[in-house]
Amino acid sequence: MGLIVDVFAARSDNYGYLLHDEASGRTAALDAPEAAPIRAALARRGWTLTDILITHHHVDHVEAIPELKAETGATVTGPRDEVDKIAGLDRLVGDGDIVMLGETRLDVIATPGHTLGHIAYHDAAGRHLFTADALFSLGCGRMFEGTPGPMWEGLLRLRALPDDTLVYCGHEYTASNARFALSVDPDNAALVKRAAEVTALRDAGKFTIPAVLGEEKAANPFLRANDPALAARVGLAGASADAVFAALRKAKDTF
Ligand SMILES: [Zn+2]
Repeated sequence: MGLIVDVFAARSDNYGYLLHDEASGRTAALDAPEAAPIRAALARRGWTLTDILITHHHVDHVEAIPELKAETGATVTGPRDEVDKIAGLDRLVGDGDIVMLGETRLDVIATPGHTLGHIAYHDAAGRHLFTADALFSLGCGRMFEGTPGPMWEGLLRLRALPDDTLVYCGHEYTASNARFALSVDPDNAALVKRAAEVTALRDAGKFTIPAVLGEEKAANPFLRANDPALAARVGLAGASADAVFAALRKAKDTF
């Protein structure tokens, strides 16, 4: 018995996820980007929505909360630090808290920077990590709130998880992230391999998610800001990881 994850597209480039605890039958929507595709996924699987787990306050992650809550009475869990920005939260959580979905334990990890209160959810037993807009495959979220140091530290908390962890992020941005990553790290064999795989998946109309965390550790420049070779390549030899991360994030903003 464990957690089954259903992956589907929502809005223009969001991912939607259903998390189904086999033991109890409880089912959570990971964020609430859009009601119709969430309803369709529930119907396809024959699951009943009991929970909604929110990662951050952006409209493309919370817009369907009122509609889904009214329909299903689902319990809505979300970041304590964004309670004033998200309508309909029933349960507030922060770094280090545990959310139980039936028998599945999800650990809450603070990942500030895309938004200040952004959180990720980690199923350690099943090796599933839900990063929303903190960490993408081959990229990371735009830094709308906060400063590079805490954002880098949040990514380090995710990077510390086991290599065989599956990463489920908030958007299908992988192909454009690959183009930027190759521009700063063209000789990275792991990146070249992942970029080719992403091209093949997208050409076949398939999702690039979930990503494998171990492969991301080797290929994603935003998880490698403390790598001296990458620092040198972006003209920052000897600089702190914070400074390299900030430079990478800024360069991606205008890429
Ligand atoms: Zn966002």
